[in-house]
Parts: sequence; C-alpha cells; structure tokens
Amino acid sequence: MLPRRRHELPPTAGLPAHWRDLLPGRTTLAPAIADQLDVPLPVVTCSGSAALMIALATLHQRQPLRRRVVIPAYTCPLVPLAIHQAGLEPVPCDVRRGHFDLDPHALRAACDERTLAIVPTHLGGRIADVDDALAAANNVGAVVIEDAAQALGARRRGESVGCAGDLGFFSLAVGKGLTTYEGGLLVTRSEDLRQRLARTAAQLAPFNAGWELRRGLELVGYTALYRPHGLRLAYGNPLRRALRAGDPVRAVGDDFALPLPLHTLGHWRQSVGGHAASRLPAFLTDCTARAHRYLPLLRAIPGVSVLEDAEGDTGTWPFFTLLLPGPQARNRALDELWTAGLGVSRLFIHALPDYPYLAGIVPQADTPNARDFAARSLTIGNSPWLADADMKAIMQVLEKAGV
Ligand SMILES: *Cc1c(COP(=O)(O)O)cnc(C)c1O
Repeated sequence: MLPRRRHELPPTAGLPAHWRDLLPGRTTLAPAIADQLDVPLPVVTCSGSAALMIALATLHQRQPLRRRVVIPAYTCPLVPLAIHQAGLEPVPCDVRRGHFDLDPHALRAACDERTLAIVPTHLGGRIADVDDALAAANNVGAVVIEDAAQALGARRRGESVGCAGDLGFFSLAVGKGLTTYEGGLLVTRSEDLRQRLARTAAQLAPFNAGWELRRGLELVGYTALYRPHGLRLAYGNPLRRALRAGDPVRAVGDDFALPLPLHTLGHWRQSVGGHAASRLPAFLTDCTARAHRYLPLLRAIPGVSVLEDAEGDTGTWPFFTLLLPGPQARNRALDELWTAGLGVSRLFIHALPDYPYLAGIVPQADTPNARDFAARSLTIGNSPWLADADMKAIMQVLEKAGV
C-alpha cells in the first residue's frame, strides 16, 4: 500500500478561490466569459442541469411533437434526470469503443422524427465530434445541444466549444473549474434563440432566497477548504467512508435526486464568479502546461492509453482520463490509488442503463462500449498541487497494473 499522506489532492482541477473574490462587486461573470471565449453573452443559470432544462423547454415549445433527447450512454446522471424533469425522454446511445463520444452508427439508429435534440458531450475537457452530431441531427430535423459542462475554455479548431451546434452549456459546479459552487452558462450564436432562452430562464427559474443563502454559504466553504489540507475533510474522508461502505456511486457523487433545483444565480455569487474568472485564462494555461509535461510519460506506460485531442483542437485538462487493458487491471490500480489521497478516481461509475436508481428514467438499452468504458477507465486529477513525486507514485502502480 502507498504511505498515508497528510494532505489530499482533488480528483479534478478546480480554480482555487481567493478570499478577496468574496468582496462585493459588479456582476461581471457573463461579460467576462463572453470576452474570454469570444462568444455572445451567455445566459446565466443556477447549474448546468438547469441550463439543459431551460434549453429543452425552449426548444420543445417550437417542436411539441418531438420528445426524445439522444445522449451518450456514458455521461453524468444529471443529464437524463434533467431531461426527465423537463418532461422529455432520454435516449441513451452507445459510445465509440474506447471513448466516451457518440458512436456514429448507434447515433443514426437512435435518431428519428421524434428526436428533439442530440447532446454530444465534451467530457473531462476532451472534445467530442460535434460535426457528426450535426450531420445526424440534420438528417432528422433535430437540434444539437453541446454538453460542455466539463469543458469551459476548450477550443475546437480555435473556437470555443458550445457554439458549433445550435446551443451549448457549461457548468460552474464545484470541481468543474471556475465555480460559483453551483452555476451554469448557456451559449448560442443565435440572438433570437438567446432571447428565448433568457425568457424561459426567467419563467422556470425565479429568485429563491433560501437557495441563494445555501449556495452562498457553500461557496464560502469552498473558498476555505479547496486546498490540500481542507480537501481531506471535504473530499477525501467522505470518499473513503463511502468506499468502505461499498458505495462507489456515492463515493464519486453520482447519486442525485429529483427534483433538481431551479432558481437564479444571484448577484453576489455572479460577482464572486466574475472575480475568479479574471484568473481563468492563466489557470487553464497552467493546467495545459502541466498536462503536456505528464502526457508523454502516461502515454509510455505499457497497456495504458490516455484520451487526447484531435489535431487542431485544444481541450482543457481538469484531469487525465486513462483506459487500462481490462476491468481487472483497472480495479487492481484503483485498489491502491483510489483512497491514497493522490486525486486518482473514476469519472462516472456506470453506463447510464446500469444505475439502479435511474430505472424508470433511463430506458434499458444494450450499450456495451459505454459499459466497457466505465469498467476500464480511471482519472488522475491535474490540480495545481499535483507534484512530480505524486505522478511518479501513480505511474508505478499503473505500470504494475497494466501488464
Ligand atoms: C456536471 C455535469 C452536468 C451537470 O452540470 P451541473 O452544473 O452539475 O448541474 C452535465 N453534464 C456533464 C457531462 C456533467 O459533468
């Protein structure tokens, strides 16, 4: 076993908050992001899931006969929950072998004249094939919603993700980079659609003082604890407790309950997010530099493959996503690494049809590649505190496990 450490690395690189971010200021979040990403002004929402619900409600108004939303069978359980809460039907579509992106053949089989939208998903900062989703959507008259919840700042051929399809959304949840503890951003290049999204948001998600107070306190907690000593309390100890109890779904925070809250993201939290956003470009550059230092080493481990980007795409690097040769090798590695405080974890535990608590929401479907991805993948957090010695310890375990 690896030696017990005194501090804890996070599983994903969040942008660390500063106490001065909490000082009152102007609500500069949306214009700051528009400026940095070179996109039209985003609609600010209380979460990524809320952004998706608002998008779906807006699209469904114009297309009331279309009720199906095609999503990757390996994605965040909040996605089918949000679709369900919007009164629509999630359709899980298998992914490409050894990837999380929609499989082109399965995608065409999943789409028909009942399809409202297809949701290509940029997981872990890696870039999905939006062109193929657009082609498939075009065949049946559906819309493309880019799920860029985990990819704020990622660029596809030089342009921000989120805007290649009809619309897209980012998450500002804790652990996804820039955070207002919970928050979301909806982007579209269509001014008409933007106005309709803003109107739907005002109707569906009114101000709620209780939620604002709760999220405000949580944001203060994040500011205090998102550092190696605090993370042990806020992240590592609950993780180890859940794993000891044999509950990996709870360990990675995959357990969500309906209804998902719908309210505004208040002025103060928007100003906090705006302050933090001024550090986002430098933070992303730093994460990318660290990723490029470690990628050649990870790539060289026999039997291990690392998810990377196509030529010309520049994703972000909140964590590394690795595939091991098989479930046994992956589990052997995790036995040593998951509880070691090194920021090694899993992304989502199951393919969507395999979560018992989603039965009745996600239809049963045969999605072998999604199941294989869930069984063979692991992640390494690329936080600012990841040191060479940490990476070396991780790689030694992977080298033993991969062979
Ligand atoms: C987190 C996440 C969401 C939902 O975002 P929240 O802000 O947590 O509601 C949607 N899709 C993916 C891929 C995510 O990781």
